Amino acid sequence: MEFLKLLTETPGVPGREERIRAVIQREIEGLFDETRVDTMGNLICIKKAARPQDASPAPLVMIAAHMDQIGFYVRHIDEKGYVRLHNAGGFDPRNLLARRVLVQGRRDIKGVLNPSGKPIHIATEEDRKRQYQMVDFFVDLGLSAKKVKEVVSVGDPVTLIQDFVPIGDHVCGQAMDNRAAVWAAVRAIQRVKKSRYNIAVVFTVQEEVGLRGAGPATFGLEPHIAIALDTTLACDTPGVPEDQAITRSGHGVGIKVMDAASISDRSLVDSFVATAKKNKISHQLEILPMGGTDAGAMQRSRIGYKTITLSIPTRYIHTITEMVHRDDLHACRDLLAAWLSE
Ligand SMILES: [Zn+2]
Repeated sequence: MEFLKLLTETPGVPGREERIRAVIQREIEGLFDETRVDTMGNLICIKKAARPQDASPAPLVMIAAHMDQIGFYVRHIDEKGYVRLHNAGGFDPRNLLARRVLVQGRRDIKGVLNPSGKPIHIATEEDRKRQYQMVDFFVDLGLSAKKVKEVVSVGDPVTLIQDFVPIGDHVCGQAMDNRAAVWAAVRAIQRVKKSRYNIAVVFTVQEEVGLRGAGPATFGLEPHIAIALDTTLACDTPGVPEDQAITRSGHGVGIKVMDAASISDRSLVDSFVATAKKNKISHQLEILPMGGTDAGAMQRSRIGYKTITLSIPTRYIHTITEMVHRDDLHACRDLLAAWLSE
């Protein structure tokens, strides 16, 4: 799990994926026949089909795993040196109280994130009822305004700080969405010895701000089949009715039927279920009422493409305690590898 640890601990807010992309590039050296970075920053990796030279061209399967994570940009530095942020991606402000952050300025610099207002000891009844918005939060870098401005500028990326830890049968950290899927994509391709498909694995940019990288990548590649790899909700936890769990942690890779951005091609759903059954890979069918994946952008690129999403059940998604069951990670890897090898 060293690679996944490195993936989750490397920053990459939407639009500033260069560091996480470099980590992936190092790991995949020699794995593909060809790699390139497109204008938007998508990392496109091609593995050619194993077939005789005179055979007709192999169909192209595109696999998208977004490499960006929810984060922030510096939006303002005040006269005391406190830093205000603008979020890139959907945070729940309730999960942002008393956090440590990494500001990626002229150099990396650590700070703490808190909402403006009084501590509990001196808070009034009114203060305690307050619901925080993103605009209420500020970063304290523990430095004078002059020193802050020497390192930090408007537009610098900011991420939360959280290390990767094993917890029981799970692994836990931030940015499991979507580094868990990046991990699964790389590990699956390492297991594909021969495929009848040309395979394009695309580590996409800017998914968290509206599936922005996947569309242009799909337009350029013109795949026959497009597969998104992403995390999904596992709400098998207290306080959520059983029918709203979406997926259950430890019950296998999610084969998506639909979410708010796409409806999976039925023949692909059937095909992945058949492969999972044949290879005894634990799986679960998934419907997610809100949210979407790169499949939404891929499906509607150019003249439209057959798409599906394979998902990794994740508890506490979009917090820094995102938890993924090891068996589900392995099931995602194994199902993709088995399907590509058929
Ligand atoms: Zn995601």
